[in-house]
Amino acid sequence: MDNCIFCKIARGEIPSKKVYEDADIFAFHDINPQAPVHFMVIPKRHIAALSEVKPDDAAVLGRMLTMTGRLAREQGLPDGYRTIINTGRIGRQEVLHLHMHVLGGPEPLGRMMPRSSA
Ligand code: AMP
Ligand code: ZN
Repeated sequence: MDNCIFCKIARGEIPSKKVYEDADIFAFHDINPQAPVHFMVIPKRHIAALSEVKPDDAAVLGRMLTMTGRLAREQGLPDGYRTIINTGRIGRQEVLHLHMHVLGGPEPLGRMMPRSSA
């Protein structure tokens, strides 16, 4: 996808604070962190959203999930973290390239879902 910001980040065309990269996935810090540690893991290949994945995407999705523990430990999160994949309008997905947020810090995070609708 020529105009996708996360494709450009994965190709190194837009700078990012890289956490990890291999042949299939790329991880980088969120530009607007919502926790002391907040990075995202994305497939290098463009997949618009979790709702769009095909059976052929299973391996790269598995890679994203199986890497989070190691990456989180390396980023200073030995005691756990939260993963979030926002999907579509209802999930308030803003960037239409599948991404998994990984968030944490020294203290437990807040509630998983805010009570307000804002
Ligand atoms: P979502 O709402 O799940 O689509 O999350 C998109 C995330 O991408 C937000 O948390 C943004 O702060 C983050 N983001 C947008 N542009 C960039 C960028 N150039 N580098 C790093 N993070 C970004
Ligand atoms: Zn993309």
